[in-house]
Amino acid sequence: MLGLDDFGVVASEVVDDELHVLVETPDGQVMGCHDCGVRAESKGRRTVRVRDLPACGRPVVLVWRKRLWRCNEPLCPVRTWTESSRHVAARAMLTGRAREEICRRVGEDADAVAEVARDYGVGWHTAMAAVREHGEGRVDDPARLDGVIALGMDETSWLRATRTHHTLYVSGLVDTLTGRLLDVVPDRTAQAVASWLARRDRRWLARIGVVTLDPHRGYAHAVGAHLSHATLVVDHFHAVALGNRAVDDVRRLDGATIADEAMALTRSSNLDTHAASTPRAGPRRSIDPVPSAAR
Ligand SMILES: [Zn+2]
Repeated sequence: MLGLDDFGVVASEVVDDELHVLVETPDGQVMGCHDCGVRAESKGRRTVRVRDLPACGRPVVLVWRKRLWRCNEPLCPVRTWTESSRHVAARAMLTGRAREEICRRVGEDADAVAEVARDYGVGWHTAMAAVREHGEGRVDDPARLDGVIALGMDETSWLRATRTHHTLYVSGLVDTLTGRLLDVVPDRTAQAVASWLARRDRRWLARIGVVTLDPHRGYAHAVGAHLSHATLVVDHFHAVALGNRAVDDVRRLDGATIADEAMALTRSSNLDTHAASTPRAGPRRSIDPVPSAAR
């Protein structure tokens, strides 16, 4: 039922909207002293609490009645100890599988650390410690970038502006076929992305066939230096956004402005018609076919 083979469930109850599960290791165990090997004597139990995977939409607390053991061998330096479990590290607040799942939710499901912490009934720092414990090794593993053939890059605001700094941005690099975030680098400049690409080996770069990017930034320069063989694509979101802005620019022109522009164009055409005999009165004007925001 619990899925932790060391334990049997004795009872469960809901306390303050959390599910408390009373667990014990099976009776009838013969325990030997880990130092001298003499059969140990049971000295009762001590209760510890450790949090496990949520169940039924509630945080779960394992209330573990830990066995206490004593070595009665007079020559042995060991006196007493408590039982241990491979599922629960010493003095841990969370079971091992709970810590792994917290990291998975933050890393794979992109759930906020605060949200996951709430689901487990722990503080933000406890959840973040689990993310670091299980996540740092994965981030450092170069094999995590294997198999990428389509790369996406875009800017994201990271920290809002304060009195001491402007809004801080990062550049996100994504496997666009799987939607997996590969990395995040500080800043949104071409140099930021170029430095990341420079750390990839040539075989990895050669496999990238398509690069999808944000057209507003200098990412194309970074791509040109390292991925000149790849096809560049403006991502759907930004293409639509640029189109909408161009249409909005035209809509914002009021009637008088449009009339002025049309008059200027007409006057200019008339001047062209008589250009051979009439000197131009001033600089030629024309309606700009591409609103400035779209360029
Ligand atoms: Zn002993």
